[in-house]
Amino acid sequence: METMKNRSSLATHSERVAATGSKSGDGLDTSIRYLKGVGPNRAACLVQVGIYTVGDLLDFFPRRHEFSEDLTPIDQLAPGQQATVAGRIVDLSTTGRPYRPTVLALIEDDRGACQVRWFNSRYLLDKLEVGQWIRVFGKVRVHNFALEFTNPRYELFSIQQYDAMASAKSYPVYSACGELSAGQVPKLVRQALLQFGHQIVEHLPARFLAGKDLMGRRQAYQAMHNPQQEVHWEAARQRLAYDELLVMQLAIGLRRHRRASGIGAISLNCNAKIDQRISRRFPFELTAAQKRVIGQVVADLAKPIPMNRLLQGDVGSGKTAVAVYAALVTIASRAQVAFMAPTGILAQQHYGNISSYLAGSRVRCELLTGSMSNSARREILAATAAGEVDMLIGTQALLQGDVEFRRLGLVIVDEQHKFGVLQRATIRSKGTWPHYLVMTATPIPRSLALTVFGDLDVSIIDQLPPGRVAVKTMLFEESDHQQAYQFVQEQLQAGNQGYIVYPLLDPSDKLQLKAASQQAKQLAGNQLSKFRVGLIHGQMSSAAKNEVMDQFRQGLLDVLVATVVIEVGLDVPAANLLVVENAQRFGLSQLHQLRGRIGRAGQQGYCLLIASAGTVTSRQRLNALLETSDGFRIAEEDLRLRGPGRFFGTEQHGLPEFKVADLVNDWQLLLMARGDAQKILQQDPQLTAHRHGPIAQAVFKRYAGRFKLIEAG
Ligand code: ADP
Ligand code: MG
Repeated sequence: METMKNRSSLATHSERVAATGSKSGDGLDTSIRYLKGVGPNRAACLVQVGIYTVGDLLDFFPRRHEFSEDLTPIDQLAPGQQATVAGRIVDLSTTGRPYRPTVLALIEDDRGACQVRWFNSRYLLDKLEVGQWIRVFGKVRVHNFALEFTNPRYELFSIQQYDAMASAKSYPVYSACGELSAGQVPKLVRQALLQFGHQIVEHLPARFLAGKDLMGRRQAYQAMHNPQQEVHWEAARQRLAYDELLVMQLAIGLRRHRRASGIGAISLNCNAKIDQRISRRFPFELTAAQKRVIGQVVADLAKPIPMNRLLQGDVGSGKTAVAVYAALVTIASRAQVAFMAPTGILAQQHYGNISSYLAGSRVRCELLTGSMSNSARREILAATAAGEVDMLIGTQALLQGDVEFRRLGLVIVDEQHKFGVLQRATIRSKGTWPHYLVMTATPIPRSLALTVFGDLDVSIIDQLPPGRVAVKTMLFEESDHQQAYQFVQEQLQAGNQGYIVYPLLDPSDKLQLKAASQQAKQLAGNQLSKFRVGLIHGQMSSAAKNEVMDQFRQGLLDVLVATVVIEVGLDVPAANLLVVENAQRFGLSQLHQLRGRIGRAGQQGYCLLIASAGTVTSRQRLNALLETSDGFRIAEEDLRLRGPGRFFGTEQHGLPEFKVADLVNDWQLLLMARGDAQKILQQDPQLTAHRHGPIAQAVFKRYAGRFKLIEAG
């Protein structure tokens, strides 16, 4: 095995792995073609499911195991039972069509006899003989008043093996491998374990493993494929899940280390005078949580290494103020700030708020939108490149190539999860790297935060500004529609403002849009005829959207029907009412976001979720919203119910895929792996020590490509 003394960079190492970890070679990298029992045809089947090497095959774990009990005497079988019997075949016959016969065997033990039936199993005729010993495992059912097994698993054995066959066993169930039959995969895996099992080595130092309650790696592979008992399988799963999580955490740690050591950032200093000047700009006293987080951010900014911080805070917790604070610290050091929002409306809103904070100061803040005129755009770009613009606010447009900064000190990204991992990377300053502050109001479950954003430091604003009242959330069934709107009418009558949201799963879907706009008209004509109803949807020009938003903000509209999800982060403090139609179509976190839009000025907010009766799970999901207003708990619930992929939506979510580990259920293991990875890297920051050779190899093999991907910026 290669040692890693002279490794100088990830790239060169990954090249070496690519060069060595290949075709024939030795050990687990041996091509699957060299496994006994694998000819060209089978090899082709395996390659189709991504199995090229023996190691790949060993990593092809069963989907589940069926565990048989000890033998049941035949006279004690009961219908419906899952049972194992062993005995001799005393009769064999076939029925049905000759070319697709059903094979019938009569099996006898010393207590009785029962029938076994295999449909369409011509091949069995070559295998089974009267007088053979056979072990059968499956479900017992009644057929023609007698008990029988139908299509059970079976094994033939000799009388000398009887004792071994009498005890409990497991049967691995694998996914299909193309044309390889279900029965062939376990045999190949067994062969691979036999021939290559000894090559599975511990890739962690013995001293490190000592004291950890982990199954050995080789044993774990054995038990993943052929556990004696269910507990062994779980122990094996834990061991291999731990390995996967540790490898990921090491990769994240290495990337972080490299970021910290490689490239410089402008160090941006704050002092008491600057702090006073900045704090005076806010029309409110910062909360303790905001101050604490600002402390963390300011400490990062002062360092000549790029900050990489994720700011999490429930909707309405006041993340913008923290961002503005950081921006002003940056500007005080004569560096520039790029502030990106996921949508034009949000960018507009930030621009409005920030401009009002900055009124009367010399700071120049500009808004760059996709819809502005060419000449206006050119002017702003020139001023930015010349360093005259201190803060440039915009959407993804800021990521475009023609936007140049003279001295970019800080990049703020609002609602990060909307951008995906790749885009985050592309904005970069010439020469130095900017500091990064990434904000999200979708609380990211801790396990995902340690994964997707694992190399970000995390700050959490865990306190809402004073005077907030929790939104009252109510769930209505479609059939109670009228009742829900009764409530809406009362609220509007009392002079309140609100949103009605329709899910538009695909904003380009004309039919859905039409349905929603018709609904809006219908509402305006009936239930809401006494009120001023506005409509906003994704296919309107941004100028038109802004106009409607302004009208709503100024109180010229009572109700805003939104056919797009009203923008995350939208801040119209007066609104206190939210109706969500077809609420079952939204994710929990999304709904939580939505209700965060209302009751922002200290008044009581009301959120009415209208859902079609739907399944138990969908009700259960929505109930979570009635029970808590803690965004983190809701996010965890969302993650539990929908899984990591759905949690982030269909966009590139940047989650590594695991073979064994499960981000929802292996939380404890993840914590352990994270702590261990930190310990390892503390002693050996680049993972170059000889004793870490094998684990380093695992890390680079798995993550070198991803590193490059993310390192793209
Ligand atoms: P979010 O964290 O969801 O982005 P915002 O930054 O939009 O929240 O803030 C929500 C609202 O709370 C805004 O209207 C803002 O002016 C107000 N706010 C922020 N911080 C405070 C504070 N410390 N005291 C009072 N109001 C605050
Ligand atoms: Mg916000």
